[in-house]
Amino acid sequence: MKLAKRVASLTPSATLAITAKAKELKAAGYDVIGLGAGEPDFNTPQHIMDAAVQAMNEGHTKYTPSGGLAGLKTEIVKKFERDQGLRYEPSEIIVCVGAKHALYTLFQVILDEGDEVVIPTPYWVSYPEQVKLAGGVPVYVEGLEENEFKITPEQLKSVITDRTKAVIINSPSNPTGMIYTEEELRALGEICLEHDVFIVSDEIYEKLVYDGHRHVSIAQLSPELKAQTVIINGLSKSHSMTGWRIGYAAGNKEIIRAMTDLASHSTSNPTSIAQYAAIAAYSGPQEPVEQMRQAFEQRLNIIYEKLIQIPGFTCVKPQGAFYLFPNARQAAAMAGYHHVDEFVTALLEEAKVALVPGSGFGAPDNVRLSYATSLDVLETAMERIQQFMEQRV
Ligand code: PLP
Repeated sequence: MKLAKRVASLTPSATLAITAKAKELKAAGYDVIGLGAGEPDFNTPQHIMDAAVQAMNEGHTKYTPSGGLAGLKTEIVKKFERDQGLRYEPSEIIVCVGAKHALYTLFQVILDEGDEVVIPTPYWVSYPEQVKLAGGVPVYVEGLEENEFKITPEQLKSVITDRTKAVIINSPSNPTGMIYTEEELRALGEICLEHDVFIVSDEIYEKLVYDGHRHVSIAQLSPELKAQTVIINGLSKSHSMTGWRIGYAAGNKEIIRAMTDLASHSTSNPTSIAQYAAIAAYSGPQEPVEQMRQAFEQRLNIIYEKLIQIPGFTCVKPQGAFYLFPNARQAAAMAGYHHVDEFVTALLEEAKVALVPGSGFGAPDNVRLSYATSLDVLETAMERIQQFMEQRV
């Protein structure tokens, strides 16, 4: 059977090959440390799980409205107001099956064949694929390491054409952990307004910011920018709820209505029980969110210092999310490899540490390490990488 052209150009996840190899080694009895995780290692807070059990016991196990429960939309509206001073109507919110699905649905309703979407590199792996699946064309702009992996207004301006439909801003970023400042966002926003370029602001790591850095949404900067932006967010990272699959989009009513219509023919609705859990997550105590943030911050500070001591690694210190994205080109060369991808494979095979090669994020000189794992494990991983390098140089 011949598959549709649509999927022929899909690039399989860059992390898959290395994850498969890590699994293979584990199955063969090796003690492999995986630093590829894209999810918090903490349990979902107890009161959220209790709310899900209660929802089931009360019979909330049926279809819900396609765009999400009214009660959850109300909590999301309150969250925007509380955290960012942003006012949305419930009709400007859609609850989706995770932020990933919110993005997927958004691209489906805003892109026509050939529409261009500006994607700053390094990027989260799903952006280009989702844009392509909607018939769009990814246009890459390199966020230079010397500019903290962020794009400049001049760079953005230089790629805008009459087919440019949108730009994606992911701050804090996966994989770099960098955060755009208010001034930087304002400058990018001005260009978007001038050229009528739509802004997709992926704020899934909003709560994970460190060392006094602050997250600002571009939608907070002016009513015009708010109108030009769809915010994507969710509970996966903030409340350690990756498996529950609850994310959402907030923005223009027409777009949200179209997304809701599309969802009504694809998912019907996000899982009812998970939506009740999400209501508890936003209406209940927020201390667990802050406790997890503090744990990540502590790990970042310890592990960052260790990493930059390892020969050949340089690293811009992340400001948010839970990844380090060091440049490993020199380390790879010192260990005898032309490509960082080969170096990553050798680290896995010999040091038994699985990192994610940066090539999958559009940054082939870098590697991504997640610190969503315990300090003990992280420290052992750093020791193994250090030893591997010492043996090679
Ligand atoms: N956006 C970014 C930048 C991410 O890293 C992720 C998850 O890894 C998502 C969106 C999707 O999150 P979820 O679908 O779990 O809400």
